[in-house]
Amino acid sequence: MQYVGFDVYEKSIQKVGTSVVFMANEGEHDLIVVAPGEGAEDASNPGFTETEQREGAITAPLNHSNAQTLRKLFPFTAPTRGLRKDQSFGVGDRLGIATPGHIRVFEKNDVFPIFAQQSIRELNLTNRTYEDVLDAASFAVFREGFTKGFGADGDHLKTVKDVEYALSLGFTMITLDCSDHIKNGIPEENTPLPQKYQEAYLDKTFDIGEGITLSFSEAELRQSIAIYGEALDFAVDMYRRFLADGTYNADFEISIDETASITTPLQHFFVARELIQAGVSFATIAPRFCGEFQKGIDYIGDLAQFEKEIQVHAVIARHFGYKLSIHSGSDKFSVFPIIGRETRGVFHVKTAGTNWLEAMRVVAQTDPALYREVHCYALVAFDEASKYYHVTTDLSKIPDVDSLSEEELPLIFENNDSRQLIHITYGLILSKKNPDGSYTFRDKLYTLWRKQYVEYAKALEKHIGKHLALLGV
Ligand SMILES: [Zn+2]
Repeated sequence: MQYVGFDVYEKSIQKVGTSVVFMANEGEHDLIVVAPGEGAEDASNPGFTETEQREGAITAPLNHSNAQTLRKLFPFTAPTRGLRKDQSFGVGDRLGIATPGHIRVFEKNDVFPIFAQQSIRELNLTNRTYEDVLDAASFAVFREGFTKGFGADGDHLKTVKDVEYALSLGFTMITLDCSDHIKNGIPEENTPLPQKYQEAYLDKTFDIGEGITLSFSEAELRQSIAIYGEALDFAVDMYRRFLADGTYNADFEISIDETASITTPLQHFFVARELIQAGVSFATIAPRFCGEFQKGIDYIGDLAQFEKEIQVHAVIARHFGYKLSIHSGSDKFSVFPIIGRETRGVFHVKTAGTNWLEAMRVVAQTDPALYREVHCYALVAFDEASKYYHVTTDLSKIPDVDSLSEEELPLIFENNDSRQLIHITYGLILSKKNPDGSYTFRDKLYTLWRKQYVEYAKALEKHIGKHLALLGV
């Protein structure tokens, strides 16, 4: 490479004035480098901070202010809106290391990727900030020269403070989690039935096209209001507060999935119609589908029933002109072909945990001793972790890692119970500390992933690629 003294990521090379800006691999970390371009004597610093001089070039660390500078210099490293494109796909990168692998997938198709996608809860569990999440995506996109654009999703946000935090940093998508306002189990006969709803819904038939009509009985209407009434008020309020006047440039997703109530097609129609009547502009709705979308494993439930219901959900979305969003999409291989078909290839799908599981598979492949240590801790931590997740993990079905050979060890990720074990304990694994305050696993794991980044990228390319192929991309 022409830039002596640097191990250059070839795809990162960009011009700024008479200088060249690129990223270099320094072994334990990456660096931004500004070098003199052809014919130029000196490099000029376009605004990076904490710089040093080396080999006639300027070097800068990957800190937040340098990420901001990068986003200004090279707009393709800043997130954009793309949720309204036909196909979009969210890949939560809890560790901040997965984007180069994801780029291998999305440079081959027209699916709009959401590389930065994180809930506040995951931030707390992984000890990261929204700045970290966004910066990791920007740096990776720069390093890999991915210029097609990507989104940043403030995922499952529930409060004014959190939405404001994400938007102020430039997140381009807000997934509003309405679950705290969804009322399960209110007996419908106790719900008042305001005049406006009676007039709008009773004794009416809604023709939503494609041969499907919907109508509400009084009981069904009462139930829809009882469950979703307050959630609708919340969504309308948040929309008016942040997005109605265009101050922030972000797509809006309404999430009603994180709740015990399965969203019937009729209730989905009610929610969508009420939002539109209230002037809310949204790109996607995430209903709670029938069956179970448990973390990191395939769909559990009646496939025929799922197909029947998503058919109507998809017609409702087409009728009003938005997309269905499918959450907890990690590894839902048996339903992907149905989703692809019924939505006619127009969807948003979110995955997160599976990217972490692939990172742990790389650990099992490349450092069996470390994997065994982490695995044994996960078994201890499972009880605590399972308070926060609905999973049906049977620990007795997980093979004893000490009895597996090094070749057999990675196969543990073919076992659903092990998958869930490792999936839900990630926060505890990453935050576990020794008596002296140092991390027990975190630093060792990151060092390994840094070294094995090509392996990890290959694993993600294959695994996320399989998701997209089954969705019909
Ligand atoms: Zn969700």
